[in-house]
Amino acid sequence: MQQEIIDWFETEGRDLPWRQPDFTPWGSLVSEFMLQQTPVARVIPKLDEFLTRWPTPAALAASPSGDAVRAWANLGYPRRALWLHACAVTIVEKFDGQVPSDVDDLLSLPGVGPYTARAIAVFAYGKHEPVVDTNIRRVIARHNQGNADQGPPSTTRDLEAMAALLPTPELSPAFNAGMMELGALVCTARNPQCELCPIARTCAWKNASYPEHVGPKKTVQ
Ligand code: SF4
Repeated sequence: MQQEIIDWFETEGRDLPWRQPDFTPWGSLVSEFMLQQTPVARVIPKLDEFLTRWPTPAALAASPSGDAVRAWANLGYPRRALWLHACAVTIVEKFDGQVPSDVDDLLSLPGVGPYTARAIAVFAYGKHEPVVDTNIRRVIARHNQGNADQGPPSTTRDLEAMAALLPTPELSPAFNAGMMELGALVCTARNPQCELCPIARTCAWKNASYPEHVGPKKTVQ
């Protein structure tokens, strides 16, 4: 499935700001915080404003945290702005103003959990790590495990499942991004578009004629 996903992502993946080659690791961190609970279309203009005003962790760390909360405005869940400001301060104090690339260092930042740490390591720095969000969990559940629903999350089990699928280190960032995009655009929760899916031929759930899910369903991740 790896090459099919990568080829599909190259042609069908959305042209999003955080996928541009010159996007900075700081931009990736800010975008991941914004995307945690806000749809892409609302994040894009706010991300641009935010990064124009605070293009580096040092710039944000030098401003009062209340400014970050006010700039967060209509994105909702303003606590994320406070976490981001605290991240900027920690990055300046402990990492010389550079967003770290190591997963454990990223996990030490305020408000950064297993998904965000690996997303930064992989998408900003090209690391060979599994990224797991709810979209990727759903694709693995259906394609590889034949289940309609991904079930409740388990960080250890979910990371192991994705790690087992990673291709070579050079290809793993595109594979991670492609799996996430497939779950967001094609293998959606309510209406999977299997006729558009690049891995339909090998999908265990589809090939079993879409059996009903048995057991607990997913909870909010
Ligand atoms: S074939 Fe359908 S259910 Fe299977 S991975 Fe593709 S979109 Fe999802």
